[in-house]
Amino acid sequence: MRTHTMAPTLMLLGALSLTVTCSTASSAYSDAATVGARTGSSTASARVHGVDPSKIKGLRIVSDNSEDTSCRFATSYPDVPGARAMTAAMKKDVEQRLATFRSTACEDGQDNGEGTELNIGHQFLVASGDVLGVRLTTKDLSAAGSGLSARTYWYDGKAHAYRTALGLVADGSRDAFVTALKARLKGREGVDATALDDAFSDPASRAAVLDDMAFTADGALWVTFDRGDVAVPAAGTLTVTVPKKTITPWLSAFGKRAQQQTVQPSGPLDLGAHHTPAPAVITHTVSGADHTDCKKVRCIALTFDDGPAAPETATLLKYLARYHARVTFFTVGQNVAAHPGLVRAEARAGHEIGNHSWNHPDLTRLTRRQIISQLSRTNAAIKAATGKTPTLFRPPYGAINQTVRNATTLSPVLWNVDTEDWKYPDAARVARTVINKAGRNDVVLMHDIHPTSVAAVPEILRTLTARGYHFVTVSHLRATM
Ligand code: ZN
Repeated sequence: MRTHTMAPTLMLLGALSLTVTCSTASSAYSDAATVGARTGSSTASARVHGVDPSKIKGLRIVSDNSEDTSCRFATSYPDVPGARAMTAAMKKDVEQRLATFRSTACEDGQDNGEGTELNIGHQFLVASGDVLGVRLTTKDLSAAGSGLSARTYWYDGKAHAYRTALGLVADGSRDAFVTALKARLKGREGVDATALDDAFSDPASRAAVLDDMAFTADGALWVTFDRGDVAVPAAGTLTVTVPKKTITPWLSAFGKRAQQQTVQPSGPLDLGAHHTPAPAVITHTVSGADHTDCKKVRCIALTFDDGPAAPETATLLKYLARYHARVTFFTVGQNVAAHPGLVRAEARAGHEIGNHSWNHPDLTRLTRRQIISQLSRTNAAIKAATGKTPTLFRPPYGAINQTVRNATTLSPVLWNVDTEDWKYPDAARVARTVINKAGRNDVVLMHDIHPTSVAAVPEILRTLTARGYHFVTVSHLRATM
């Protein structure tokens, strides 16, 4: 898909200068699916400083994914110690969207057709000093969904308060700010003057429309309007960039600090929270090669998708070490970036690390460029964590086509036994499914983001080991079966 980015134009509106970037709905869609950005690669998020989430103490990524083409969803948001009210706001929004999606698009046992998918990914905007900023990007392709949208969430560690995007602008300056935005938007193609007036008519709709704002690395404010918010839907996502010298006088005290921490991060994030230290990850190291010959003995390849997750993955590693079992982890890039230490521990313990995309989209719905981005970003995160580039990937939902195959040299891995553990959070049931259904040379699908799936593992290993099974990685199974 082509990104139609307007040549940045510098418009003078009295003393006010604003630049406007416009992108079509499809290009906004493609970039959000790819890197969590909203417009072309030369704009917006490319100009926002990168944040290393592994430096955020006590960070937990809360994920809920399906692995089923009849109900495709993947949601995630960060839980940062000390930012409880902000986490609660994200949790509420994500759970509401997921509940609506599941009730309309995921009726149990129904085929909901080709068009439905919900993906909520996250991106850190700022995590420095006493300022935390996160953007959640939602792609909702169900009939009830609104397509692509995004929202930014802010936490003020000094006041110990959750702030919405509009909280970046001082109360007394909001009228001037809105007037400036309206003046600039009015000139845009597809912008409906009536819709524009409606959008900003009262504080509630103002807050709803102005829910996606962030600073660029040079201190400008970047305001993004979801498709259909202030223009006809065909106009897509609209972004207005207010330059630093214009926006600075209008910022709230918190907005000024958020701007400063974006332009020049002062150091590690400190929200004054007591975070519980992560549980010790086993240091068990398997140095030797695995000599299990799957031609001679009965092998099973357990696979764990969607992680790593804290603390679940660390617990799982402990169980696996106890039974000398090797497994394959199909990791999600955004979680690898948050928990590289867990991925390193997986690799050191002799397990195999595979690629499961950056944020779990259905790859068959993406362009070649987007597929490459999803897989290469994740490869890079795994390489950074373990020193090794993976050779295997598992497409989310098991959805694969020729475009996906052609976009990568990674070898695809599906599965023979589906525990449906994402659907049934019941350790006994998960254990029973694997024990009853898995046989020689099978590849079993599980997820280490669910505590119930991890809790099922000791029973699986105990029972199947007693029946003479050996637990090997997917590459080992393929090489020796
Ligand atoms: Zn998955």
